[in-house]
Amino acid sequence: MENVKDPSFYRNPVILQSEDLTNYILETAVYPREPESLKELRKATKSHPWGFIATLPEAGSLITILLKLLNPKKTIEVGVFTGYSLLLTALSIPHDAKITAIDIDRKAYEIGLPVIRKAGMEHKIDFIESPALPILDKLLEDPSNEGSFDYAYVDADKDNYVNYHERLIKLVKVGGLLIYDNTLWGGRVAWAEEKVPPHAKVGRTAAIEFNKTIRDDSRADFSLNSVGDGLTICRRIV
Ligand code: SAH
Ligand code: CA
Repeated sequence: MENVKDPSFYRNPVILQSEDLTNYILETAVYPREPESLKELRKATKSHPWGFIATLPEAGSLITILLKLLNPKKTIEVGVFTGYSLLLTALSIPHDAKITAIDIDRKAYEIGLPVIRKAGMEHKIDFIESPALPILDKLLEDPSNEGSFDYAYVDADKDNYVNYHERLIKLVKVGGLLIYDNTLWGGRVAWAEEKVPPHAKVGRTAAIEFNKTIRDDSRADFSLNSVGDGLTICRRIV
């Protein structure tokens, strides 16, 4: 029997169903163009037993391009962990742009913080240690926050994605971008239920529900991509 105490047991399978192809993409296209500070943050994250849950660099390279196209001033991130996606965002947005970053775990953030500081990006970040839902609700209590964000990135507890979306679609402006990570859940969204290991069931169900909710949401354009662990890209249209 596999060792369920070992965090790597929980690692999602490769979506492309081919380690070789994934490695080809990483070695040929992603790592050679990944900024040094992100490499450093990735290295620091390896000291964390759950280090593998960080945003995958191949998803990161796509997010970088989208951010540079969008040129956002006010952004929000739900689910920071050690800060890979946070630093990537900070590096891709203008000098005077800001990121409201929310996570229940400041300790993990502190693993990446020295690298973020060294990269000169700390001034862009307002880190809030809290469950994200109450913070989003608080933001919505002030009408001036409605439609004020250009960009949102969601990578926290999967069974709250629908709840996050319901808030963020109001906080992000028309034309703004919302990106959700892990929406293919290691490809298990397409597996027969009985083949899914118990620890992965909640995430799979949440991803399936979320994907349907987004598909049926006429307030946003959306695109579901098999990059990384599944990346849903939405654009608010009304
Ligand atoms: N984007 C990160 C990975 C996030 S991992 C990166 O690139 O490395 C998921 C994170 O969601 C964890 O750090 C966890 O503490 C956080 N999280 C889980 N439940 C949460 C909640 N209810 N509110 C805010 N953060 C939460
Ligand atoms: Ca993730």
